[in-house]
Amino acid sequence: MDNLEALYKQIVMDHYKKPRNKGKLTDEGALQLPYKNPTCGDVMVLYMNVDENDRITDIKFEGEGCSISMASCSMMTDVVKGKTVEEAKHAIHLFNDMIKKGELPEDEDALGDALALSGVHKLRARHNCSLLGWNGLEKALHQQEEHRH
Ligand code: ZN
Repeated sequence: MDNLEALYKQIVMDHYKKPRNKGKLTDEGALQLPYKNPTCGDVMVLYMNVDENDRITDIKFEGEGCSISMASCSMMTDVVKGKTVEEAKHAIHLFNDMIKKGELPEDEDALGDALALSGVHKLRARHNCSLLGWNGLEKALHQQEEHRH
């Protein structure tokens, strides 16, 4: 295992053991979306507040699953909290390209700690685990848009 791989593994385990933004949002108007990865049994519920300027002011999750899926949710919430819906969609796109195509983002900061999951590209059976948080976010944003219009 090279140094970068070891560092990435450490970052993944850190998010798994100390998840960021874990919990619920109970205020009225908070979006709540359950999502699961049937291939591994990972489950999560995403909670999100989007303000009138299309900014994600708060985001939390609850979940249970393998270390990759839970780290993915934690990293995702860290990356998109405070961002606009458009910026969040861009991050979803970058993360999908990294996992499915093995393409790293040009701007390394664009995905924050989620960059540490880049090695999952080679583990096809774990793609859905690493995408759990991001797929859930995509669905939540879609639902939020439908709610608006
Ligand atoms: Zn999993």
